[in-house]
Amino acid sequence: VLEDLVEVVGGPALPGWAAGRRFKLPLHIAAEIAKGEVPTVSRADMHALRSRAAFTETKPTSSRLPVNYQIVPVFIRDRVGKLIGQRQRARVDRWADFPQFPLDLSADLLADFSPRSVPRTGPVPVILSHDLDTHEGLANLVRIFLPIEESAGAHSTNYIVPCSWPIDHDLLGQVSERGNEIGIHGYNHANKTPYAEPAERRRRLEATRELVERYSMIGYRAPSLVRTQALMEDLADFFVYDSSIPTSGGLFPVPNNGCASARPFRIGRLAEIPISLPRDGSLLFLGYTPNEILSIWIECAEAIADSGGVVMLLTHCEDRFLGQPAMQRVYRIFLDHIAASERFFFSTPADVLSARGLT
Ligand SMILES: [Zn+2]
Repeated sequence: VLEDLVEVVGGPALPGWAAGRRFKLPLHIAAEIAKGEVPTVSRADMHALRSRAAFTETKPTSSRLPVNYQIVPVFIRDRVGKLIGQRQRARVDRWADFPQFPLDLSADLLADFSPRSVPRTGPVPVILSHDLDTHEGLANLVRIFLPIEESAGAHSTNYIVPCSWPIDHDLLGQVSERGNEIGIHGYNHANKTPYAEPAERRRRLEATRELVERYSMIGYRAPSLVRTQALMEDLADFFVYDSSIPTSGGLFPVPNNGCASARPFRIGRLAEIPISLPRDGSLLFLGYTPNEILSIWIECAEAIADSGGVVMLLTHCEDRFLGQPAMQRVYRIFLDHIAASERFFFSTPADVLSARGLT
């Protein structure tokens, strides 16, 4: 049985970075804070809160379909999605009770109550990542987004679907040669791998090996962010890290999912880099305008910097996501904001993991 969570607002009893922010803490810890005490937080408390909604052990609808959900044309998925999204935007408390949307740092607050916690100072790393779901995404990355990133002095990490569409290695080779990272994005994007039988799941992971070696990949991102503990255990045999757990996943792939932490952590033998900013697809689906998305990204990045986390942004290069002209513009402004601020620097998963002792 899960312990009840209670809302706590940052004030004098909490670390400075928490001021004015809302958190959801386990009842017994919130009770100590309410009495004006410094709460005693164990490793088990920390782990329980971070793991509470970190996995999607129950299959989302897209994984339950007898066929690959991608056979439904994109324009129909988009139209149905927009209708649902606009209605859902107003119901945020229901689908983001915990973690709260668009950002929830409750597990990081708990970690800072631990006597061994060392406050982090200095600039905060920003990792730019793209999931390459289609050839269109890969082509747009090379044509549109690499130039935008290079002009801001940044590189990106790009997770590609290995076994669905024919990969254009001229393009992917360019991405790699220009100093960007490549990682694996599932198997065929049908959202089945995490729930497959163990032997089938391993077969799917083995199928990526040639590509993994060709581009010296060290990381994995699950399609639609569906992830199970069994998947994580298997990933450790193939990858150094995973980046499939959002800090605050909101509505997708299932309501109330995420690890409520923006700090990389260890899951068994695997390192995890949470996707700490809300992603382009979710925000567009909920009906946020490009300018609203820019504000959310900047506000969340600043809050993550205050708290000593790592900024990990996930965007999609396809025309219907970041490829829209207004979104391209917003992305450029966001990158310029990061580049101009002394609080941030552009980084990569490998550098972040080694800086945090997770390799
Ligand atoms: Zn994807």
